[in-house]
Amino acid sequence: MAIKVTSEVLEALREAAKRADPCEACGLLLGEAVQITRFVEASNVHASPETHFEIDPQALIDAHRAARMGGPKLLGYFHSHPKGPAKPSQTDQDMASGDEMIWAIAGESEIAFWHDLPEGFRPLSYAMVDGQN
Ligand SMILES: [Zn+2]
Repeated sequence: MAIKVTSEVLEALREAAKRADPCEACGLLLGEAVQITRFVEASNVHASPETHFEIDPQALIDAHRAARMGGPKLLGYFHSHPKGPAKPSQTDQDMASGDEMIWAIAGESEIAFWHDLPEGFRPLSYAMVDGQN
């Protein structure tokens, strides 16, 4: 599977990771079908935000409500590894539910996308596209 991501979203992910450093940034990836068109940054409410993340539950509730009202769908989650690679850590693998959501991870030098499948994380290739706004 390959996905599309707008250049605006990629830039927003980089900015969020930079701003949160040395803590992990996190947020929600929204869009339609296989195209991510929006990033909503969320508070990292984990007690150890330097090495873990937990997306503010209110942000998830808001995103589901907005989707029900006809807004873009929740496609996945984003978080950063301020001092690690752009791939799922052991903690991430333990937390993953295999629900086929997209995980974007910003490492020290790059952003990578992963598919959370029942059998484990698989890398997702992505194409950058221009957003409409
Ligand atoms: Zn992680």
